[in-house]
Amino acid sequence: MPTIDLNNGVQIPQLGFGVYQVPPEETAETVATALEVGYRHIDTAEMYRNEKGVGEAIARSGIDRGEIFVTSKLNNGFHRRDDALRAFDQTLADLGTDYLDLFLIHWPLPGIDVDYVETWKAMEEIYAGGRCKAIGVSNFNAHHLRKLFSETQVRPAVNQIEVHPYLAQDELRAFDAEHEIVTEAWSPIAQGKVLDDPAITGIAERLERTPAQVVLRWHVQRGDVVFPKSSSRQRMEENFALFDFELTTSDMAALTGLDRGERTGPDPDTFNYIP
Ligand code: NAD
Repeated sequence: MPTIDLNNGVQIPQLGFGVYQVPPEETAETVATALEVGYRHIDTAEMYRNEKGVGEAIARSGIDRGEIFVTSKLNNGFHRRDDALRAFDQTLADLGTDYLDLFLIHWPLPGIDVDYVETWKAMEEIYAGGRCKAIGVSNFNAHHLRKLFSETQVRPAVNQIEVHPYLAQDELRAFDAEHEIVTEAWSPIAQGKVLDDPAITGIAERLERTPAQVVLRWHVQRGDVVFPKSSSRQRMEENFALFDFELTTSDMAALTGLDRGERTGPDPDTFNYIP
């Protein structure tokens, strides 16, 4: 499994397993299966309400905690400093672990009365406390990041944003890279919406791979981190088998050429949802 170096030297496995929309009562079993398949990087969030299940699966697996990279995200209702510190403690308790590998601000929330700069300063405190190996953001645009750069100390290690062939995000990815921020691509197969595209199915047929493998391989070759979600072992295995084939330069260009600026999720510049 290839790893990518974050800007503080921490290594993150490039491929992981995402648990958004995995029901809390099914999470322990689903993550246990993902660990059996070989995933060693789990992406959860307080908002998904399934951190306990993730923790249970890790504990039961018998795999050394140090071998599994665990990411969680601060919930939208906890942007004030004290709330953020408390929420981080709760995340560790729910996951049954004494540290996180990566903790993210889930959304910038432009319309709430707490500035995300205050939230980032709380993240810096959490990082300084040593119970989190890296901190980052999610759904931040360049203007959000520039504001952090000018008003805070620690550079985010990652920016987790929606990326797939219908939303290639090349400008924001280049901005991240220029500032030593690793891009993580969420909804990497657009929750399945890109898989029937003839440009993708054509390449899949030629390579004798599935459309999902072709799209996930495109992300990997672009250098982004991905964590597709699936509930079935067969698809988990399919999505894990990305490192024994390659896309050509023209395959890569064909997928990137499908970009039409189409989101499957909310727009970070207007999204203000508090659960
Ligand atoms: P995804 O692009 O990973 O698609 C998942 C869906 O695609 C599954 O429910 C399944 O129905 C289908 N699928 C999976 N593998 C398949 C295959 N091989 N063939 C056909 N269909 C397949 O979408 P996602 O779950 O939204 O995103 C992945 C992860 O990204 C999430 O679990 C979560 O960890 C993260 N995420 C983060 C944010 C954020 O705001 N930071 C938002 C959404 C998702």
